[in-house]
Amino acid sequence: MLELLFLLLPVAMGYGWFMGRNSVKQNDHSAKQALSIKYSTGLNYLLSNQQDKAIDYLLEALKVEDDTVEAHFAMANLFRRRGELDRALKVHEHLVRQKHLPSKDKQQAAYELGKDFFSAGLYDRAENMFEKLLKSKHYGLKSLDYLMRIYQSTKDWSKGVSHKKAIAKTKDKKLLHNLANFYCELATSALEQDNFIEVIELLELALTYDANSCRANWLLAQIYEKHQQYNEACRCYQDIYHQDKEFFPDVIDQMQNCYHQLDADDEYFQFIKKVYDETAGSSALIKYLSHIEAKFGKAKAKEFILLALKKRPTIKGFKHFIKMQMLNSAEKDNTENLDMIKELIAAYLNLKPRYSCRTCGFNSSKHYWACPSCHDWEQLKPVRGLEGE
Ligand SMILES: [Zn+2]
Repeated sequence: MLELLFLLLPVAMGYGWFMGRNSVKQNDHSAKQALSIKYSTGLNYLLSNQQDKAIDYLLEALKVEDDTVEAHFAMANLFRRRGELDRALKVHEHLVRQKHLPSKDKQQAAYELGKDFFSAGLYDRAENMFEKLLKSKHYGLKSLDYLMRIYQSTKDWSKGVSHKKAIAKTKDKKLLHNLANFYCELATSALEQDNFIEVIELLELALTYDANSCRANWLLAQIYEKHQQYNEACRCYQDIYHQDKEFFPDVIDQMQNCYHQLDADDEYFQFIKKVYDETAGSSALIKYLSHIEAKFGKAKAKEFILLALKKRPTIKGFKHFIKMQMLNSAEKDNTENLDMIKELIAAYLNLKPRYSCRTCGFNSSKHYWACPSCHDWEQLKPVRGLEGE
């Protein structure tokens, strides 16, 4: 009932405004009376929970004029917030049909109707509404955003990139980032068909629209590596680190392989040392330890890891420490005990999600380029903290 009262509030306000405005016109008396009857009938239906009948009466009572449009929008938005999409649709469709409304109100009605269709999963109709608004000063950018969301849901990447000029014109970072990911999707399909020239072209386009696209660099690195162009692959991996440090643990092994192929292991470990100094991440720590052990011996490596874990404890780091202890231990019993602890930690870590979405907090063991929950691109990254990096 309380919700219903909130629903009535904007409607009553709009109605009051309308009636007040008209009260100065004495010859409108009969029209006023007729509307008053429709309005109170509408309210009665609303209070007796017959909401569809109530809407019909209230729409009729609130003859759409400039004064009452806001009340209509408020009513429809309340319906939408309550999850009553069919009712919100009815009100917005009623508004769209009003030919005499000022252009801004007409555009708002079309935009809200598009949102209703989008929420209801009626993508064709939503797309139709948003396309009509692309040139609108107030709703152009928002409509473009919704169109990209529609194409993401329908995986219609080509249609999305057909809006590249409009997106570039907006200079909107999020839209440009989305566009780059659409190019990456197309590149992934081309990669599956071994169409390397097309892949490179598509990825270069992705980087043109979003120079910080980790995903485009990650795909480029894979192609360079496959074609034994290790210098180029190493440059891409370095770019990934500079673009998004949090994403780097996922490419640390591939990067090592490329440097190794170039016979440049020392250079790789120099880079990893820098990564560890800047991020204190557990993957970089473990990699760097192998270098310390090879160069300066086991004792130095043990000293290093103990100091590192004291400064920033992580379960992954601790597991590695146990592994080092096992390899150093001469006693069989001791090794077996340590192995049991290591297995226990490994089982514990396997239960924990490896990735978390930086936008909505969604957790997953599998990596997705678009978050399955909030649909944001490139936000699923390795978990940080005690149980992660
Ligand atoms: Zn998310």
